[in-house]
Amino acid sequence: MQAPPPPSPRRDYRAAAIRLVAWAVFLLLAWFAATWAWRQPFMAAVRMGFELSRMAPPDALAMPVRGVDIARVADTYGAPRGLDRAHEGVDIFAARGTEVLSATPGIVASIRDTGLGGRQVWVIGPARQRHYYAHLDDWAPELGEGDVVLTGDVLGYVGDTGNARGTPPHLHYGVYGSGGAYDPLPLLREGARRAAAREAGP
Ligand SMILES: [Zn+2]
Repeated sequence: MQAPPPPSPRRDYRAAAIRLVAWAVFLLLAWFAATWAWRQPFMAAVRMGFELSRMAPPDALAMPVRGVDIARVADTYGAPRGLDRAHEGVDIFAARGTEVLSATPGIVASIRDTGLGGRQVWVIGPARQRHYYAHLDDWAPELGEGDVVLTGDVLGYVGDTGNARGTPPHLHYGVYGSGGAYDPLPLLREGARRAAAREAGP
């Protein structure tokens, strides 16, 4: 009987090279699969959430009620409400049923009918600030939690639900940053100024 020949070192290199190529092909396919999934519609909210978290807080806000002149929005942020509350937003008066529009891009975080706000929509916007649209007569049909919205998308319609019941229909609009509520009126005025400049043209 003859002893088997010792394994050739060349064959070891080849096996290692094959393993390396197999890994490279696997990683490439995994990369393509991940890239494909990231671009699919079902990933839109995840993608938007990532983009929003990287955005700076807004330096202007779009008018959230269709057709309302910014000059008609009263400065009532911080005004006393009852004994222990202050007004954490602005009230924008308009005919019942006027469209309520998203002031920023964002993700619809909550649609509910509860408490002082009545029918309300919460949108997570740039820098993950929360935008509160309250006293709605109704929500936009088909609007759902987790939906991606762009500036100007219809969220609902002006009404008097919640503690606004019986008062002239209006949107209560509030913005909450990491430090709590802040007055959106200066940013709404800046948004109106820019919109007017766009309309005037170059
Ligand atoms: Zn209000």
